[in-house]
Amino acid sequence: MLVGVTKETAPDEARVALVPETVGRLGEGIEVVVEPGAGAAAGFSDEQYTAAGATVGDPWAADAVLKVVAPTAAEVDRLHAGQVLIAFLQPLTDVEGVERLRAKGVHGFALESIPRISRAQPLDALSSQATVAGYKAALIAADRLPRFFPMLMTAAGTIPPAKVLVIGAGVAGLQAIATARRLGAVVSAFDVRPAVKEQVESLGATFLDLGVTGTETEGGYAQELTPEQQDAQRAELQARIHDFDAVITTAAIPGRRAPLLVTAAAVHGMRAGSVVVDLAAESGGNCELTVAGEEIVSGGVTIVGETNLPATMPTHASQLLSRNIAALLGLIVKDGSLSLDWDDEVVAKTCVTRTEEQT
Ligand code: NAD
Repeated sequence: MLVGVTKETAPDEARVALVPETVGRLGEGIEVVVEPGAGAAAGFSDEQYTAAGATVGDPWAADAVLKVVAPTAAEVDRLHAGQVLIAFLQPLTDVEGVERLRAKGVHGFALESIPRISRAQPLDALSSQATVAGYKAALIAADRLPRFFPMLMTAAGTIPPAKVLVIGAGVAGLQAIATARRLGAVVSAFDVRPAVKEQVESLGATFLDLGVTGTETEGGYAQELTPEQQDAQRAELQARIHDFDAVITTAAIPGRRAPLLVTAAAVHGMRAGSVVVDLAAESGGNCELTVAGEEIVSGGVTIVGETNLPATMPTHASQLLSRNIAALLGLIVKDGSLSLDWDDEVVAKTCVTRTEEQT
């Protein structure tokens, strides 16, 4: 079985789907071909891949093609029926892209569709990349803030710690809380899923009660709030936000526009110099003033709308992603050949282009 690792072509995408460390761990009967320079932006040279046992060449004809970002139409033209493709295929939002793969007869495995069940945790690429994003969001907040995060007692007097609010305490939010705490900030957090309170408190943060409680789907995700609940949440937040120096927002509902939580009026109620880091920028933003992909200043408040934070830490982001993808390959390759067990919930739900003929 030949596995191909492509070089990413999306602007600013520095990650690679498989790192040299993982090449040798794929097991018997799997050979790897890596596109020239595929790992360069993440810090992995072609020589490192060849030393790990891979060859450098054309990955697009391989039995399984590994990518980070969904392929462009031109890239899909290089694929053929029966191949496996593993990538972030955006199955809930890029209907056309998924359809293109289905029409081609490619087995498209979307990393977003891996069920969030215990058995699939080693495959959970959304979690591994959200961990990177949450960590980086806290660092960006600390960097942009014209104040210290920790309390400092100096000969020139005492500096109080920064107050950080994290909204949305899923995987990224919890990592942002932990990182901001390690840097010495006093952290509060809010999520609509009631189960999160305990997790927030176990990290040494305070759960901020905004008086709104939502419900959880079977998969552990938040249900979208009603319009009345959303209004109540925005109003309560607007009344409390001026207490905070930095706000990190990570609230998301899979496949939907991100909930709008921080209004322009709320931002303008914050002290000049304050910072908002909006991790939901790509799906519309949790902050009304967020500009996706940009960092702006409005009313003295810096609003960071970076859309791909994992790519800004490509070495470890790729290393984690690579282990997730290797675990997924472990489920669909047996003794060196493709073996798709549609009775396996993880295989069935992750393959988003399955057709009648493929069953
Ligand atoms: P996500 O990125 O979809 O959402 C981020 C957070 O935003 C979630 O915690 C959600 O509750 C919150 N949110 C949504 N609307 C909000 C609002 N209006 N106000 C405030 N917060 C709001 O979620 P995620 O981080 O990918 O994962 C969510 C949950 O899935 C996890 O916390 C966990 O319970 C579950 N999960 C399970 C596994 C597993 O068992 N394998 C792995 C990862 C995650």
